[in-house]
Amino acid sequence: LDPEEFRRQGHMIVDFLADYYQNIEQYPVRSQVEPNYLRDRLPKSAPYAPEPIEKILQDLHKDILPGLTHWQNPNFFAHFPSSGSVAGFLGEMLITGFNVVGFNWISSPAATELENVVMDWFGGMLKLPGSFLFSGGGGGVLQGTTCEAMLCTLTAARDRMLKKIGKERIGELVVYVSDQTHFSLQKACQIAGLNRDNIRVVPTTIGFEFSLQPGLLRSVIEADVAAGLAPLYLCATVGTTSTTAADPIGPLCEVAQEFGVWVHVDAAYAGSACICPEFQHFLEGVEGANSISLNAHKWFFTTLDCCCLWVKDPNALIEALSTNPECLRNHASDSKKVVDYKDWQISLSRRFRALKLWMVLRSYGVSNLRNFIRSHIKMAKHFEALVNTDNRFEIVVPRNFAVVCFRVTPCAIKKHDNYVPADSTPKKQDNYFGETKDDVSVVNEFNRKLVDHINESGQAYLTHAVVGRVYIIRLAVGGSLTDYRHVDNAWNLIKDLTDSMLKLC
Ligand code: PLP
Repeated sequence: LDPEEFRRQGHMIVDFLADYYQNIEQYPVRSQVEPNYLRDRLPKSAPYAPEPIEKILQDLHKDILPGLTHWQNPNFFAHFPSSGSVAGFLGEMLITGFNVVGFNWISSPAATELENVVMDWFGGMLKLPGSFLFSGGGGGVLQGTTCEAMLCTLTAARDRMLKKIGKERIGELVVYVSDQTHFSLQKACQIAGLNRDNIRVVPTTIGFEFSLQPGLLRSVIEADVAAGLAPLYLCATVGTTSTTAADPIGPLCEVAQEFGVWVHVDAAYAGSACICPEFQHFLEGVEGANSISLNAHKWFFTTLDCCCLWVKDPNALIEALSTNPECLRNHASDSKKVVDYKDWQISLSRRFRALKLWMVLRSYGVSNLRNFIRSHIKMAKHFEALVNTDNRFEIVVPRNFAVVCFRVTPCAIKKHDNYVPADSTPKKQDNYFGETKDDVSVVNEFNRKLVDHINESGQAYLTHAVVGRVYIIRLAVGGSLTDYRHVDNAWNLIKDLTDSMLKLC
């Protein structure tokens, strides 16, 4: 590792990226390449002789950029944001530059201690109860993704319960989710060796804005108890992936606590908004939960990966996940005065993620971070108002944060001559919107094509969800470079494409 060569090449890469950001709007937001486009462009084997950075950067530009979907493009409105920032990028650069492997305290004391500090800072910003903070007997850890946080907490809950009821009853443990819970929990259950038939998917409805109802949860748990099963774990969500619905945390925790169920709050996307006092009510009652996680790499200006997980009882995690090989023994760990994060996560080795979060928190401060989030929410409100000005469109579910769920209405599509339901006899209501099966498929298909056209244009990128069998278009604001003009352009594009599609009908 030659420091001078690192300096020279490092400057070139920073310049490359700065130019990329300056010109980012020139690239189609969603990559337009066909599958396997790269195989034919690259040599069949790795180069035997070294190649200069100049040549590598040229090829990066020519061959790799076309195959990128530009998540930092201000016209990216798909999925959830992956909001970048100068502090986040540079923090990541420092992490990689130091390249320490902080599996336990002694392997890099600053990596562990900074993580302890920033997790308490961040928890304080969210107004988490003291019991989730190191200062109050709980604690926080930075993991890669929410999937990992779910698996770790599920494993902790599983082992805690099996200790009580006996290992042989693992097949009787039951996990509770709603039909809006992120699909990754299913994978976590599989990995944790739980019985797949014991995942209870509690239905939600538009009447309750797709949030999990405590009364329904109670009846499902009671039925399991009556059947001799062992209720284990509830995943409640603040900001569901499809529509950003928020489950009522307090009332759900009350039900879960009665049955000794571990409650994990998945606030992957929307948790970041809860640093603003006006959104903190979404976490009301969280003192009744056992764990909560959010992705700072979604809407907190910190690069992927950075999932923040807080637990009330770190020992439950440690008992499920710790290993103590002789080769890692040291006085600090033996003294029990330090945190060894290897026992709070799946892998042994870990990155110094706290550094980028520390950079973000210090570089922007709580006030600016709140303002960034508020500005995205204002832009989403602006888009929502635009949708409401055109009666061919409708908002499908109320907006909670910075995601707007909308579609072209059945009425707008039906007005056109070749909207012909397969047969015109009255049908039973097929979805929450009172539409029949034929309506649903025609309207869904129209909206699906609209999204395809938007994304094929390369001018904006939006994704969809299906709730209550209705196809909805989601516009998620959250890019660090996104401004009102990008939202307006997206709206004009959507309107123009809808115009031409309706003319063709
Ligand atoms: N939970 C929710 C609500 C999500 O929206 C997502 C991803 O978008 C996840 C969990 C999974 O997050 P990760 O990719 O960090 O595992």
